Amino acid sequence: MALPVNLLLIGSQGSGKGTQAARLADRHRYHVIGTGDILRSHVKAGDALGKVVKRLMERGELINDALMETIIREELAALIPERPVIFDGFPRTVPQAKLLERIFITEERPLPYALYLKVQRATVIRRLANRRVCPDCGRVFSLPGLLKRFTCPRCWVAPMVRHDDQPEVIEQRLNLFFSQTLAVLDYYRQLGRYLEIDGEGTVEEVTNLIEHALNLPVTTRERESTRG
Ligand code: AMP
Repeated sequence: MALPVNLLLIGSQGSGKGTQAARLADRHRYHVIGTGDILRSHVKAGDALGKVVKRLMERGELINDALMETIIREELAALIPERPVIFDGFPRTVPQAKLLERIFITEERPLPYALYLKVQRATVIRRLANRRVCPDCGRVFSLPGLLKRFTCPRCWVAPMVRHDDQPEVIEQRLNLFFSQTLAVLDYYRQLGRYLEIDGEGTVEEVTNLIEHALNLPVTTRERESTRG
């Protein structure tokens, strides 16, 4: 594979893909396109797109492909072309994967590898039940590590449960992942651009596993981030 590769970080909610994307971006100069974060920022801004997607997101349903295509094309156009990209949360379906292949081919970008962060359903449910998010900056915290009157050190507000981390919505989102997104992995496996990583370890261990798998220089700095 050409180094460093464009990456599609694929994992269920709570698999740690957001956290790992942020760490790889920080350590290896990746751009990150995180579709969930992008959509949440539109909802927060209350703009036209935000109004369209708010309900669907709160119910844990997927946004339609045409809208996602516009977002992806706009995001890619805004990036420095030489730097590699990590997609966090896209593609989630085989049609989205095919769409992304077409975009990469027409834009003559090196074709991406899918990296599956494999985590047991029970681990994910536990992690999501503990997840709290700063409503202002979006930083993510894990509940067992929080003091009772904890506030985000950047914004001084109490972190909250994400709307779509309510138990019944978590169920819906996990069902979607296991019914639709696992097929995306087969798609990349058949293309020969597929890697699988055990995502059960600590944040640091998982980062190092990814670095090994991608032949990136292994970093060992301790960091505090626990994004989803
Ligand atoms: P995430 O933060 O990645 O779990 O995404 C939160 C929500 O954003 C999802 O439950 C969907 O409603 C929406 N979303 C994010 N990425 C996509 C995508 N690739 N396709 C459709 N909907 C998406």
